[in-house]
Amino acid sequence: MCQQKKCFFQSPYFSHSGNLNNILHVKYNSDYLTIISNLIIYICTQNKIINVYLLPVLMYHSIIGSKKEKGKHNIYVLQGDLERQLAYLHKNQYQTITFEDLAQNPQLDTHKKVILTFDDGYEDNYTRLFPLLKKYNFKAVIYLVTQEDHNSWGVNEGEPRKNLMTDMHIKEMSDYGIEFGGHTQHHPVLHDIDEASKRKEIGHCKSDIEKKIGKEVVSFAYPFGAISDEIKKITKEAGYTFGIATKNGPLHWQEDYFHVRRIEIATRTTFWGFKRKVSGKYLTHKFFI
Ligand SMILES: [Zn+2]
Repeated sequence: MCQQKKCFFQSPYFSHSGNLNNILHVKYNSDYLTIISNLIIYICTQNKIINVYLLPVLMYHSIIGSKKEKGKHNIYVLQGDLERQLAYLHKNQYQTITFEDLAQNPQLDTHKKVILTFDDGYEDNYTRLFPLLKKYNFKAVIYLVTQEDHNSWGVNEGEPRKNLMTDMHIKEMSDYGIEFGGHTQHHPVLHDIDEASKRKEIGHCKSDIEKKIGKEVVSFAYPFGAISDEIKKITKEAGYTFGIATKNGPLHWQEDYFHVRRIEIATRTTFWGFKRKVSGKYLTHKFFI
């Protein structure tokens, strides 16, 4: 029975139903099988015929104090909104886990669990996020750019300048239980650099962090979500266990350890939207509601 269930979830119609290419495929080529399979899953989950809970891996960046700091791309989250979101998770008895937890125990029961990830390693993750994590006894995963002291890649695109965390911040948070992962040394678009540079950016970033925190780094987040078979292969060969994408990839993290899909939480995410995004049903429902 389990095998049958697994096959059902891993069918192309299920596992790729949230992928942008597939959405376009549905819209423009009328892939009725995809629509029907998503509809069946939606009805089944709504009626609790099957209890689907897809581990939400949330993607954050900087935590800002006011909307004046929101920047050009609106990818940052207000501290007040973040606190409300974490309070909701705490009140509703969610547990936060990390990729280190999954690496140690891939069979971990992930129901009612969530992974909070924060890209780039902004200083405000120490000053604004860390106190909240301690308040609610939560863990998180922070992806570091190891050879920059500010967001030079963002400034080039018109974002406000933001300092990154210092080694002291990183060590203190690591000792508390925050996972630190790789995000390259200089935040390049990995598609745009040659293979040797890719290997250096991905591999040396891992050793940079391991020197700072004194323990193994298991996960790597692809800058700008730039991903390919070659980039995934290099990430695996660098010794990481997980490669973390942005808003694409299979719906279930176990399907491809080097293409883990995330759900973005940004300035525009409403509280209602946040609750939906951590429901564990967001990815299967989002075509219908
Ligand atoms: Zn980044």
